[in-house]
Amino acid sequence: MIDDVFCKIINKEIDAEIIMEEEDWLAFKDLHPAAPVHILIVPKKHIGSILEIADSDGKLIGELIIAAKKVAQKMGLDKGFRIIINNGSHGGQMVPHLHLHLLGGRPLGAKIVRDPEE
Ligand code: 5GP
Repeated sequence: MIDDVFCKIINKEIDAEIIMEEEDWLAFKDLHPAAPVHILIVPKKHIGSILEIADSDGKLIGELIIAAKKVAQKMGLDKGFRIIINNGSHGGQMVPHLHLHLLGGRPLGAKIVRDPEE
């Protein structure tokens, strides 16, 4: 069994502030929020990253986007929000369990890629 921190949260072995839950996914607050609203949406099935998504996961991946819509509505993000999926070390992925970052609650700007040297 894969034993990453998000699996532990899904299995309720580690506490998290849960915002919404459905059969196939869980949404909870990020421990270190980067915006006033910062929610992580994770599939309960362990998928390590985008590169581990199987063709047969298409329905589940669609459900994660619908989950983001539901959570954004629940959190009152009517002015807009951003969804980010970090992938792999160059993509800034720290936790090896596919997850969507849902960010909002302030203007986030249009720039989404920044050179760390800038
Ligand atoms: P990544 O860099 O993998 O895309 O994002 C992982 C996110 O998980 C980070 O924003 C980090 O703050 C969050 N995180 C890491 N460990 C925990 C935890 O134990 N609980 C919660 N709620 N968030 C966590």
